[in-house]
Amino acid sequence: MNRLCLALGTMTALAWVACSPPPPATEADGLPAGAEQAAAVITRATLETPIREFSDDRFEGRAPATRGDVMARDYLVSAMTDLGLEPGGPEGRWQQAVGVVGVTAQVPAKWSFTTEDGPVELSNLDEFIAFSGVQEAASVIDNAEVVFVGYGIEAPEYGWDDFKGTDLTGKVLLMMNNDPDWDPELFAGKTRLYYGRWTYKYESAARRGAVGAIIIHTTPSAGYPWQVVRASWTGEQFELPAEGEQRIQVGGWLSEKAAEQLVTASGHDLGALIESAKSPDFTPVPLAITTSLRLENQLNRVDTANVLGLLPGGDLADEFVVYTAHHDHYGIGEPDAEGDNIYNGALDNAGGVGHLLAIAKAFKELPQPPRRSILFLFVAGEEQGLLGSKYWAAHPTVPPGKVAANLNFDGANIWGKTRDVTLVGYGKSSLDAVAERFAARQDRTVKPDQFPDKGYYYRSDQFSLAKIGIPALYFDAGTDFVGRPEGWGKEQIDRWTETHYHQPSDEVTDEWSWEGMVEDAQLGFFCGLAVAQADGLPTWTPGDEFEAARLQALATVR
Ligand SMILES: [Zn+2]
Repeated sequence: MNRLCLALGTMTALAWVACSPPPPATEADGLPAGAEQAAAVITRATLETPIREFSDDRFEGRAPATRGDVMARDYLVSAMTDLGLEPGGPEGRWQQAVGVVGVTAQVPAKWSFTTEDGPVELSNLDEFIAFSGVQEAASVIDNAEVVFVGYGIEAPEYGWDDFKGTDLTGKVLLMMNNDPDWDPELFAGKTRLYYGRWTYKYESAARRGAVGAIIIHTTPSAGYPWQVVRASWTGEQFELPAEGEQRIQVGGWLSEKAAEQLVTASGHDLGALIESAKSPDFTPVPLAITTSLRLENQLNRVDTANVLGLLPGGDLADEFVVYTAHHDHYGIGEPDAEGDNIYNGALDNAGGVGHLLAIAKAFKELPQPPRRSILFLFVAGEEQGLLGSKYWAAHPTVPPGKVAANLNFDGANIWGKTRDVTLVGYGKSSLDAVAERFAARQDRTVKPDQFPDKGYYYRSDQFSLAKIGIPALYFDAGTDFVGRPEGWGKEQIDRWTETHYHQPSDEVTDEWSWEGMVEDAQLGFFCGLAVAQADGLPTWTPGDEFEAARLQALATVR
């Protein structure tokens, strides 16, 4: 019932028209008969059961290639078998093996730097985090010079180059996180682009032949507190096998305080350095600091897997709509203050897994299969750097030029019904209109990413598929909650990120509210179904960063 009517409470003829529930989603919306009834199977129970199960302690946090990972994948295979889906993987299998390399680095308790003021010793976990950049028995930095390189970005389209041709071979680069955020014309202002992601920073340093790269952590420039860096980068780190690309030996983070201490000891002022980095004329600053560090690495070459279920389509069965959700989380790690060391990953991402299983159930409820086939792709190793979706993008089980769109689910709305829904990547493709059409049917509005500084578009699996040209939708919780005051939504989400994001406490609790999630999953169903039924394929907004890849993919299937 339209929220306004509840306030109105009276039923004049006009009010009747204005207040009656929105007409069912029909052919007029490009949907087949029975779509509304099919969507109705998405209920609290349809979501809650798999989400509680999948995030249970029994799954031990589902880290790649662990017992919990195997259990999680078996669970998905049996759930999709029960739903009546078909194996969607290579050679008729449910699973696409993804070989990963687990690297466990023995990090010394102290990291020492030689400065003009004498040695500066920083403490592991509290002041610095270090991990191996190579898949070898040891990572070595030997008496290398530390150079401050500002944002460490080279972006010709913005006339920006922090390196100015400086030879940084064998250096350790000290870098700022994020990208310039003060001018909407420059790096899209507050919206964090891929240039602002930590992955870009380490890749950028490697391209320069640096031996190490250290990112200065501040909560605003990272988008999360030091605790998340600590939890995410300690323990075994998984990667796809190296393919001979240039790599740094050691990657790391320094806490803001430790960076301040180190830079001050070198006779520089961190604040002034950061200010200087905001100018397009910036050039790298050697800090007269040298350092050495050796990590002994244990290598573990193992397999995890993507899990794929298929619903064959009708007259356009050789084209696909691909739903994605990552099935992994951080496993068993450093205990929290309560001594809990299982990183359950309930919201992140048993939530997304629950959405896909509920949406699959709705598709199976349709009287007729959709025109295009539907592929449910549960990807591995997302927390380790989008490994499963990167692997699928490099070894696609269906031709990317035959994929109409990707709908990715990472996270869930656990706070209640909203008047809006967030579309991460709004403005990038014609999928916006599809989302707006069906959100309006739920009396909701579609809003662009409401935390643009976090760079969510580049932080989940749709990014891997977008890079091979597939237009992607990534729905996130709205922030305008029914019955709540202005700002309440952002407060809840910020508090959750501060307290539970990538922590053992990301668990299902009785505080969770499910009704908003039901609407989000139904919206995901309607949007995917509309794309599956449409004559034409969605397109990227002309000039979008991924349009070229799309044109290439389409050319290969013509
Ligand atoms: Zn996630």
